[in-house]
Amino acid sequence: MTDTSGKDPHVCARCAQQGPTCCRLEAGQEEVCFPLSVTEQERIREVLPDTGGFEQEPNSRAFINNVRRLFPNEDEAVHELFPVKGTHVRLALGKDGSCRFLGPNGCVIPKESRPYYCRLYPFWITGGEVLVFDSPTCLARRECRSINCMFRVIETNAATVRDLYGRLRLAWGCRRHAACARSSVPSR
Ligand code: SF4
Ligand code: SF4
Repeated sequence: MTDTSGKDPHVCARCAQQGPTCCRLEAGQEEVCFPLSVTEQERIREVLPDTGGFEQEPNSRAFINNVRRLFPNEDEAVHELFPVKGTHVRLALGKDGSCRFLGPNGCVIPKESRPYYCRLYPFWITGGEVLVFDSPTCLARRECRSINCMFRVIETNAATVRDLYGRLRLAWGCRRHAACARSSVPSR
């Protein structure tokens, strides 16, 4: 759910009415939920101090492989950031796999305080190109045949996606690593 305005795009509101949206994982998929940096956790706690909503998760093989798929050709950096016997923090999920921050009308976190991954979705950057996750549950994906249509219905653009991706890399710690430093990471 990328953002350029204060409201969720209409397509996401319609998607939420149909479910499951990008805010719910299948049972058993919790371990591959994306990690949350300290910065992202603090930003959420600032606006929702008593909500909880985070869990510590071991860096399982499935999780590490998922992060490797997000950052192809950056295995060394991924293994340094998420070592095999380490842990990371992720969003807490309810019994049905829904994020604890998912309310009846969508995410309860103000957009500018949401995790970068949430703000990027369904877009990502690979090899410097903006890509769309091929998710069958994403209504925007189902309704559009081109990336420009996706930008329009999600109410974003390539520049915003690149900016959010750079901020995510910075928050997740990529800047410390040579492999990540080759990419353009904007300052905050
Ligand atoms: S933090 Fe908000 S946008 Fe992100 S998964 Fe949870 S409910 Fe969805
Ligand atoms: S799955 Fe796609 S359409 Fe649905 S809420 Fe997420 S970004 Fe919006």
